[in-house]
Amino acid sequence: MKFNIQDTFNKELPADPIAENTIRQVEKACFSFATPKKTADPKIIHVSPEMAENLGITEEDTKTDLFRDIFTGNEVLPNTQPYAICYGGYQFGNWAGQLGDGRAINLTEIEHNNQKWAIQLKGAGPTPYSRTADGLAVLRSSVREYLCSEAMFHLGVPTTRALSLALSGDEVLRDVLYNGNPAYEKGAIVSRIAPSFLRFGNYQLFASRQDHETLKTLVDYTIKHFYSDLGSPSTETYLQFFQQVADKSLDMVLHWQRVGFVHGVMNTDNMSILGLTIDYGPYGWLEGYDYGWTPNTTDSQNKRYRYGKQGEMVLWNLYQLANSLYPLINEASGLEAVLESYRTKYDEKYLTMMRSKIGLYTDREEDAALIQLMEENLHLTETDMTIFFRNLSYFEQDKPEEGFEHIKDAFYHSLEENPEIIEIWRNWFQQYSVRLAFENENDNPRAVKMNTYNPKYVLRNYMSQLAIDAADKGDYSLIDELFKLLKNPYDEQPEYQKWFAKRPDWARNKVGCSMLSCSS
Ligand code: AMP
Ligand code: MG
Repeated sequence: MKFNIQDTFNKELPADPIAENTIRQVEKACFSFATPKKTADPKIIHVSPEMAENLGITEEDTKTDLFRDIFTGNEVLPNTQPYAICYGGYQFGNWAGQLGDGRAINLTEIEHNNQKWAIQLKGAGPTPYSRTADGLAVLRSSVREYLCSEAMFHLGVPTTRALSLALSGDEVLRDVLYNGNPAYEKGAIVSRIAPSFLRFGNYQLFASRQDHETLKTLVDYTIKHFYSDLGSPSTETYLQFFQQVADKSLDMVLHWQRVGFVHGVMNTDNMSILGLTIDYGPYGWLEGYDYGWTPNTTDSQNKRYRYGKQGEMVLWNLYQLANSLYPLINEASGLEAVLESYRTKYDEKYLTMMRSKIGLYTDREEDAALIQLMEENLHLTETDMTIFFRNLSYFEQDKPEEGFEHIKDAFYHSLEENPEIIEIWRNWFQQYSVRLAFENENDNPRAVKMNTYNPKYVLRNYMSQLAIDAADKGDYSLIDELFKLLKNPYDEQPEYQKWFAKRPDWARNKVGCSMLSCSS
């Protein structure tokens, strides 16, 4: 295993001069050096073959003790200096001050096949940013992050990636529901990979401290390495940088809406400057199509980060980022113009996205109303999003009366007592049929196209929970099965048909399936 080490973050940006690993406020620095904690009995339980290949790691490499030790933090790669990154953030709408990598330790950056990757361990022990916590992660949240980030990649959603999932061999104390019932759980470490882990919160922290010098250093670094087409730094470049971050973030959240992913904690410290889905905590997948749904019990009062609000929350976060970039630009109108255009762009792109979900590839004035009506209908009774859109591809334009039959598996409750809902859908299918007649394509090519856009398999919350329960008992086969299934989420995969099913009843109100806290 030989890496082409190309460290930039800890070489080009200002470091915290203090070397000790003690909790503190770190000023005028972008990171602190920190060494991962040695673990009791490290054991790799899964490796992503796609990610290994991206990094130039062979299958044999992944089976070595060296691989295990490096990706659990028990050994440090030669010529590298691991570090924890300093950032702040707005949490649930309030400025929280310095946060930082409290349990993530960045190992190094490497280059392979002309692609740069930063490698980070999550759950690798305390750092100066651990505040009151232990710097560790438990198996359940690590399985969820590992499986979901790779699944998102295969769905075509911009995301950080994961290379490996490992047990640390240490026990970690957690109070899952924050109700005074702490218990020991298995400790775990995920190696996360992305071109960069920079977040909105990195820039916000310097702006909040009026440290405009470090702010500028960091923005210039970001443009140089990740937005290099913008050229050398100037007021104009900063504005274009903001525009591109806004566009990427918009693109990301539209993908979330498309596949039914609810992030759960869209705080600005969880917003990637590259528009990647980052920090898989109490996220969830829609089963019933519901704008009001969030899996995060910590947010159950206000539901700030519910499904139907995610687009708006990205905008809220962009406002905060704009405020942080303002000192470099000293002129609000350009930033405001970007923010103002977000809404229009969002509405336009949302409409195009929803059109594609129902197989419309031309624009007609009536589309917005047709789609709005469909979304209203989806809310009438609990209706499974994934099954609905997938089965919609069976619709035949000249047989609107059969439309309802195709989607009836998506309903969680019998409609015998609500025949009016069946009638409402029959009416909608009539309109849909009329609208489809204006399309250029016939049923079959439309179905094929729709099925590359509407996944058949997503990581339903109960599926993760089953994999976690088995893993807790030492059986990792379900992690492997789900990992393989979710590599091809748009394919039929008849051998895995059992995963194309509604959430079973036992999972409706179960912790881990429909309710998740921030405890991880
Ligand atoms: P999150 O809710 O995972 O985005 O985390 C918010 C902040 O809390 C980040 O600064 C994390 O690094 C930190 N944090 C979360 N869990 C832990 C932990 N177990 N130990 C130390 N810091 C943590
Ligand atoms: Mg976070």
